[in-house]
Amino acid sequence: MKSDYPDLPGLPPLFMQRLQNILSPENYEQYLHFLAATKTTCFRVNTLKISIAELIDRLHAQKIITHPISWCEEGYSVANDQRRMLTETTEFQTGLLYIQNPSSLFASLVLSPKPGEEVLDLAAAPGGKTLHLAALMKNEGRIAAVEAVKNRFFRLKNNIANAGANIVQAYHKDGALIGRLVPKRFDRVLLDAPCSSEGRFDLNNPESYLYWNEKKITEMTRKQKQLIYSAIQCVKPNGILVYCTCSFSPEENEAIVQYALDKFGQAIEILPITVPFPNFQTGLSSWKNDFFSPVMENAIRIIPDAMMSGFFICKMRINSF
Ligand code: SAM
Repeated sequence: MKSDYPDLPGLPPLFMQRLQNILSPENYEQYLHFLAATKTTCFRVNTLKISIAELIDRLHAQKIITHPISWCEEGYSVANDQRRMLTETTEFQTGLLYIQNPSSLFASLVLSPKPGEEVLDLAAAPGGKTLHLAALMKNEGRIAAVEAVKNRFFRLKNNIANAGANIVQAYHKDGALIGRLVPKRFDRVLLDAPCSSEGRFDLNNPESYLYWNEKKITEMTRKQKQLIYSAIQCVKPNGILVYCTCSFSPEENEAIVQYALDKFGQAIEILPITVPFPNFQTGLSSWKNDFFSPVMENAIRIIPDAMMSGFFICKMRINSF
């Protein structure tokens, strides 16, 4: 496959070569087109603390121009030259809004928790998705948020307190152990797995991709398998699991879901994603020598654009096993 953008500076050639085989030609072109652009700043109104209308009025009064995100009621964007102004507002500093990429908003909407449910976020820090889940649940029910890395755990705790997400209890633990501790306990589980972060590579920030190599991917898949196994054990019969990463690699995505299908068989049903969103590619049916179940086409890859970063999302129902 040929590109009109040969030899883009910086990005590892092997990464680009792999990506050409993962994305359709049109999606690969779109990726290249937006690669050098700084992403538009997006935020979520923290509806636990303020109504959408009131927050937007308060920002407009400070000459901050907001644009709604069509598929997420509480999501907005501002032009990048207003990012600084936004972060200097008391509204930002007191947790009335949370800056996050819309791909993250999308993942919480796909999990779609209801007030009163018990929810587990198995890899939670810094907590963008946890806080959104608490808002979707209107602070009714319970969320257990697990984080293994100490300094990130403390950041998570601060963010929870700042957002007034009272139903969230944070745990400093290895997520791989949780399945054995609380089996079949939760109505819904989010596993936003640690990954190679390929979806966030940024040409303006070489640190975002300099460490990348295929060994790193293999290293992440070991963790991801342990975590998805644990996550599945935690789900109540007929409960929902959302597995997502900000990586493009099939090894970290389809292959991890396939690992779960192989381990738990019929107990796992891969569900279609019904949240309306135009800009995605469906899950792959094969990669190198591996073939994936045809239901993998219910999973999606968000293709980066001016706002969204790359993301893989798969929604599953976990039946009795
Ligand atoms: N969901 C988060 C959000 O939206 O703000 C981002 C999560 S990030 C992709 C993955 C997180 O998993 C990192 O904070 C990482 O430290 C944590 N992590 C890595 N290994 C873990 C493990 N074994 N158990 C729990 N968390 C782990």
